[in-house]
Amino acid sequence: MHAIIIGAGVAGLSLAASLASRSVRVTLLEQESAPGMYASGRNAAIARSYESDPYLSMMAKESILTMYNRNTMERELIRQTDLWMEPLEYDYQEDSFLEMQSDPLKENFRSQSGSVDLPDGSTWKALKLPSGGIMDPGAILQDLSEMARRGNFTFIPNTKLTGITISDNRITTISTDGKYDSGFSLSGDEVLVLATGSWAASPPAGITALPLIPHKRHLFVLRSPNGPVAPDFPIYWKENSEFYVRREGPQLIATHGDQTPAASDNYAPDSAAEERFSEAARHAFPFLADFQLVRHWACLRTFPLDGRPVMGYDPHLANLFWHAGFGGRGMSLSYAIGDYSADLLLAGPRLEDETTNPFTPHRFF
Ligand SMILES: Cc1cc2nc3c(=O)[nH]c(=O)nc-3n(C[C@H](O)[C@H](O)[C@H](O)COP(=O)(O)OP(=O)(O)OC[C@H]3O[C@@H](n4cnc5c(N)ncnc54)[C@H](O)[C@@H]3O)c2cc1C
Repeated sequence: MHAIIIGAGVAGLSLAASLASRSVRVTLLEQESAPGMYASGRNAAIARSYESDPYLSMMAKESILTMYNRNTMERELIRQTDLWMEPLEYDYQEDSFLEMQSDPLKENFRSQSGSVDLPDGSTWKALKLPSGGIMDPGAILQDLSEMARRGNFTFIPNTKLTGITISDNRITTISTDGKYDSGFSLSGDEVLVLATGSWAASPPAGITALPLIPHKRHLFVLRSPNGPVAPDFPIYWKENSEFYVRREGPQLIATHGDQTPAASDNYAPDSAAEERFSEAARHAFPFLADFQLVRHWACLRTFPLDGRPVMGYDPHLANLFWHAGFGGRGMSLSYAIGDYSADLLLAGPRLEDETTNPFTPHRFF
């Protein structure tokens, strides 16, 4: 098999790494000059293991555990940071994970009810997750790239997939605007993988679109009036407002949890975002009122209508595979989704429903 993966975000790289380790030939095409220029390089990098979706819950825990175990002196993928949160839904998979996992680090994945003193002296009753952490997206992308490069892997930057041709329910050629100027043919054992992040919502003509919707979210860097924030500043997350805040060096990163449907390439910050953020911050965590906004940016989180990622063969085109829709959890899930999709890819196309693959694209048809 030869997998031609489009998109070098964390999703494309995680799949490339897993396939390459199984001796599958992989070519990764990326429209930009380097990996991680969009969601994978501009996210809040909070590792969150607590999930209400049963399948995502297990994947997130396994992936985050892998990150802790892959940390080295030279490369820190994740830094342990207590995550205090007010969840809206219960994680029913926590006990199952603790029972089946033998790794001693599993104890960090046990959530604890407690209370924490906030910087303004108030006390907040919340759930403490010692497994929480702040990831380093650059280090994770580098780690996955190196894993891929140990196999039969070719990375082609500055090359955008622009179109496809189809015959007998198969993609026969793909066209690009980069190195393969006039495009190239796909032979019998070649599969095209869409790992295109927000652009998966607007695939090339000929591919039936799935109900994927990019949602814009803004992140803000804040400076404390009292100098650098303490190195042990935890992550605070209120799910009812989706407001979260964490430490970033001497400053903080926060969001008011906005999620506005947007076009696949609309990464421009909205003019009203700052005002809305300041208002939300005053309500969610009043201690932030004295902090100064330093800068902000916008980024797209791409969700399927049912909120669950899409991993699996396309129901219409036999050699098309989807690996997209990772919403607000793609970084946390990174070390699990590659293996999951690699298994499906190697098994080949089949008739499937949500009982055989909860992430199947077939569920929408
Ligand atoms: C504001 C914000 C905060 C977030 N916070 C967190 C968090 O705290 N924790 C967490 O786990 N996750 C978080 N996420 C989610 C996470 O960032 C995403 O789920 C993840 O990065 C998605 O990765 P991806 O590879 O699917 O997409 P992307 O990173 O967008 O990668 C897709 C790639 O495909 C390329 N591409 C697209 N079309 C083409 C084409 N036609 N030809 C060639 N290349 C193409 C793009 O250039 C891009 O590099 C956050 C996201 C946002 C926006």
